[in-house]
Amino acid sequence: MNSVRPQHAPMTQFPVVDDCLQIGGMALTRLAERVGSTPFYAYDRAKLTDRVALLRQYLPPEIHLHYAMKANPMPAVVQHMASLVDGIDIASGGEQRVALDTTMDPGLISFAGPGKSDADLSCAIAAGVVLNMESEAEMERIAVAGKRLAIRPKVAVRVNPDFELKSSGMKMGGGPKQFGVDAERVPAMLGRIGELDLDFYGFHIYSGSQNLKAASIQEAHEKTFALAIRLAAYAPRAPRTLNIGGGFGIPYFPGEGRLDLEAVGANLTLLLPGVLLALPGVQVQIELGRYLVAEAGIYVSRVIERKVSRGQVYLVTDGGLHHHLAASGNFGQVIRKNYPVVIGNRVAGGEREIASAVGPLCTPLDLLADQMEMAKADVGDLVVVFQSGAYGLTASPAAFLSHPGAREVLV
Ligand SMILES: *Cc1c(COP(=O)(O)O)cnc(C)c1O
Repeated sequence: MNSVRPQHAPMTQFPVVDDCLQIGGMALTRLAERVGSTPFYAYDRAKLTDRVALLRQYLPPEIHLHYAMKANPMPAVVQHMASLVDGIDIASGGEQRVALDTTMDPGLISFAGPGKSDADLSCAIAAGVVLNMESEAEMERIAVAGKRLAIRPKVAVRVNPDFELKSSGMKMGGGPKQFGVDAERVPAMLGRIGELDLDFYGFHIYSGSQNLKAASIQEAHEKTFALAIRLAAYAPRAPRTLNIGGGFGIPYFPGEGRLDLEAVGANLTLLLPGVLLALPGVQVQIELGRYLVAEAGIYVSRVIERKVSRGQVYLVTDGGLHHHLAASGNFGQVIRKNYPVVIGNRVAGGEREIASAVGPLCTPLDLLADQMEMAKADVGDLVVVFQSGAYGLTASPAAFLSHPGAREVLV
């Protein structure tokens, strides 16, 4: 293709042998037989392991690494992650059940998210999960539940910071938000925690998601530490945990580069001594979802038909937005852009062509690739969407149009 148009970052995480993509050490064509039907998601266990190792290489050793499992809640994935990371962050009662089935110590599981039901709260208290409180009202409900169960609930305050994570794909803090307690109201809330029978752990300050700019993340880390140190003065006891969120992004679209993890890690190494001096013994936690799992996963669908309409080639596949809303461009994107897509069983291919890969849904939104250059594909070929290990299947409207679901495998 011409060199002026921005290209996707190279997708080199999976080897190619005889022009066929290899996942978990197996040719994609063989994996498709092993899975038994298309479409499916495949997650590569070794890539998950490698990613955690990469983070540990660049982050200071004092940092505790948590997995935010809403990015990929497949139980086998969560269990594998549980064996690698230092904690799991959950955001629903359903995630709580999956997390509690893993080998993770419940005291290292923390539960964020607005609108927790009384049943969610009782389960967390009984299990010994740390509740990240999203409001004063939730705090009062937790205290009542703790009294009823005669168990002292473990709690942290989720703070809605007075700053934003700049250049973020999704802002989760700053300004009015349904998440967390406005920073200016936290001192009064900390006073109330001291009056209630609650076991105060610390703070959770999460400002945004999908950020590729190290400088923005570094700035957010500095402001997060400063805010936590300021708020700690009002706490009923010295904070034991400080969760500084995540927000590390991965490249999805043409022109996007990789996050400079080394710079983010170096900045944390610089900042940590001051934090530990101000908050002695505090455990600093980073919680990542997407960055840990997204690049380890692919979504695979099969070409059912090649169709040409007024000169444009459409590869009609058995998969689509009902399994992978994000790749269709309808999960928070403002302007639709293509995810990296290849024909997995003929990566380079003999002939190349410009084609669109679409799904079987009766809506023009059902687009997996819009006029991309790829190998010329035939009926039966496998269309692969990269960067699909996070916010894929469970972030998609599976019931829309009543097509079969997608399988998931961890290989
Ligand atoms: C969604 C979420 C995360 C994970 O965000 P990623 O962008 O996937 O890393 C972390 N913490 C909380 C509280 C979340 O809601």
